[in-house]
Amino acid sequence: MLFCRSYVARVPRIFRARFVSTLTFIETTADGKISPSTFNNLAAAKRISNSNTALILGSNASKVAEQFNNLGSSLGLEKILILENAKLDHSLPEYVAPILKNVLETGKFTHFIMQNSNVGKNILPRLGALMNCQPISDVVDIQDPKTFKRPMYAGNILATVVSEQKINLLSVRSSSFKSIDVNNDGTPSEKITIETIPYNDGDSKAVTIEWEFADLMDNTGRPDLVSAKNVISGGIALKDKTTFDELLEPLADALNAGIGGTRAAVDSGLCDNSLQIGQTGKIIAPDLYIAIGISGAIQHLAGMKNAKTVVAINKDADAPIFKASDYGLKGDLFEIVPQLTAKLREMKK
Ligand SMILES: Cc1cc2nc3c(=O)[nH]c(=O)nc-3n(C[C@H](O)[C@H](O)[C@H](O)COP(=O)(O)OP(=O)(O)OC[C@H]3O[C@@H](n4cnc5c(N)ncnc54)[C@H](O)[C@@H]3O)c2cc1C
Repeated sequence: MLFCRSYVARVPRIFRARFVSTLTFIETTADGKISPSTFNNLAAAKRISNSNTALILGSNASKVAEQFNNLGSSLGLEKILILENAKLDHSLPEYVAPILKNVLETGKFTHFIMQNSNVGKNILPRLGALMNCQPISDVVDIQDPKTFKRPMYAGNILATVVSEQKINLLSVRSSSFKSIDVNNDGTPSEKITIETIPYNDGDSKAVTIEWEFADLMDNTGRPDLVSAKNVISGGIALKDKTTFDELLEPLADALNAGIGGTRAAVDSGLCDNSLQIGQTGKIIAPDLYIAIGISGAIQHLAGMKNAKTVVAINKDADAPIFKASDYGLKGDLFEIVPQLTAKLREMKK
């Protein structure tokens, strides 16, 4: 059961669980690498406990676990649980949730952490239902092992949530937790114990027929949108997909940036739905966010307002995005963006 702090006084320290131990679900990229936001999620785990375990599922599980062993001791992981089975490659909740339930019901963990990604959003509710446990989603701050902050109403308020549950199922907003500074300088680290767990999908009747990857710009080797340090983002002003790609891709390359878009841009077919930033899209907090031809609707701001530096390019001096920006360029994006790209390329030479 969850309580909002405004209604319930905090539980005295004496009643809090003495034993605190986390299990973090590791997402991998399509080519079998550790997803970059993993290091933010492990930083969140370290905020809860010093006793941390990672869980890797899928046909590459042991190879991914070996990648952790090469990263030095800064990860703070005691153990890695793996389960190698191709059925788990796409994190289908029907297969994964029963496995997670079995692991968590061993009583070895008080907190289960996933990223608030598509995978986390897919799996956590099912797991919560199986375990009769209320997940706490989109956690942006951890005050102590029972007290979490999460946004509500499109980020307009931050709720402080106190949980009395024996197991806390958390999804964390990776960008809110500073990534662990991995010491992969070749320093030998203590090997992390790797343990295989049994496969038990709860006799799931779900069958995967086919997986088809969308042709996303994210698959072109650009930084992952959620963890990218620089993000450039386009609005409906970019007119069509060809113009969107032709103007934004060279600028993104010059800045080594991820590319995002508004919902209007997504709805009009300028970019893929996975690039949408905002209340109903991805929530990001890059160092630099460049909003190009974006009006700055409240639903869009909900996804990028935590960016450290915001630059807006818009021809309308009254566009709300300028109020949310550190730097504003009033003018036609079709003139400004190519000039900016050319200047950045020149500076790189
Ligand atoms: C429930 C709900 C959820 C939503 N969720 C999201 C969400 O997650 N993300 C999101 O983005 N939106 C979301 N929206 C939609 C949101 O309200 C806005 O409609 C949307 O963000 C507007 O996108 P835009 O800025 O591309 O388009 P517009 O608002 O039409 O703005 C286009 C801007 O481009 C400028 N412009 C035009 N031509 C040029 C030019 N040549 N040079 C420079 N500037 C130019 C204009 O001045 C204007 O400011 C949601 C809406 C609802 C109701």
